[in-house]
Amino acid sequence: MKPFTKRVYKFVLPTPFPVGDVNVYLIKGDRLTLVDVGPKTEEAWHSFLQQLKEIGYTPKDIEQIVITHHHPDHVGMLDFFSEDIPVYGHSFNNPWLKQDSQFMDDQTKFFERILVDFGVDQRFMSYVKRLNDMLIYSCHRELTGFLRNGNIVDGLEGWRVIETPGHAQSHIVLYEENAGILIGGDLLLKHISPNPLLEPPMIDGVNERPKPQLQLNESLSKLRELPISQVYSGHGENIIEVNDLIKYRLKKQAERAEQVRQFISEKPLTAFQVSKALFPTIYHKQLMLTMSETVGQLDYLLEIGQIRVDTSLDKQVYFAT
Ligand SMILES: [Zn+2]
Repeated sequence: MKPFTKRVYKFVLPTPFPVGDVNVYLIKGDRLTLVDVGPKTEEAWHSFLQQLKEIGYTPKDIEQIVITHHHPDHVGMLDFFSEDIPVYGHSFNNPWLKQDSQFMDDQTKFFERILVDFGVDQRFMSYVKRLNDMLIYSCHRELTGFLRNGNIVDGLEGWRVIETPGHAQSHIVLYEENAGILIGGDLLLKHISPNPLLEPPMIDGVNERPKPQLQLNESLSKLRELPISQVYSGHGENIIEVNDLIKYRLKKQAERAEQVRQFISEKPLTAFQVSKALFPTIYHKQLMLTMSETVGQLDYLLEIGQIRVDTSLDKQVYFAT
């Protein structure tokens, strides 16, 4: 726990995930506001209580919670807080937070369908059933109210909500203009590039899946337009050289896409075949992460006109243009 300014405290909490610790932030606004919580584990909760105590607070003092996105390492611990504490975030968090059974079923069907389209071998399909395993570290909670682009959170004067989909469809960040501080969730991390995770469409009546890599790039580009002195991110250290890091992330992504374009220029491939070429040792162990990353590059190459896709077959096949 360390105060960066007089008003924002950072707590580092353990998670059971490969990403390691997660950062959550306490803002002393007109209302004492916690931004993100840890996963639903006793370890994270005890660590949180300890760090909160060091600055003289208990969970009862927290007046509201804002979440940056719906991933379990950022929301699970909500279950340990009193029901009376209001929780705010993007409306797309809600089905994940509630673990709505209809939504979960639809989600499974969505992944089964797109993985077939992407040419994933039948023997890997059982993986889809295990997709929701990590929701044991998530919560069963509902948002009290929704946050949209441009909103100022009540009780947090000066902090503006910016919608930044890509890593998650529900992703938002909070920007404080005077000090140029951004609480950035998993949009920009110092040591790793956040995965553009595939998710089902969240808008009623929309059947087309979101294109998370394109969204992520656009969200990062939005940040470049803001004067930011420091990003308080969801994992790892704070980021000071913000524009340099964004430039680097976008460059690395374009390089990976170029690698994918070269595979496809040798012969037409399905997304799964590209994924095997790109991640030969982990494609099957980390199916959803590697497929998300691969499809991200394919969406990008399609967008810039360097490949085309034939969707008339059972499996979609990508060709060089
Ligand atoms: Zn995340």
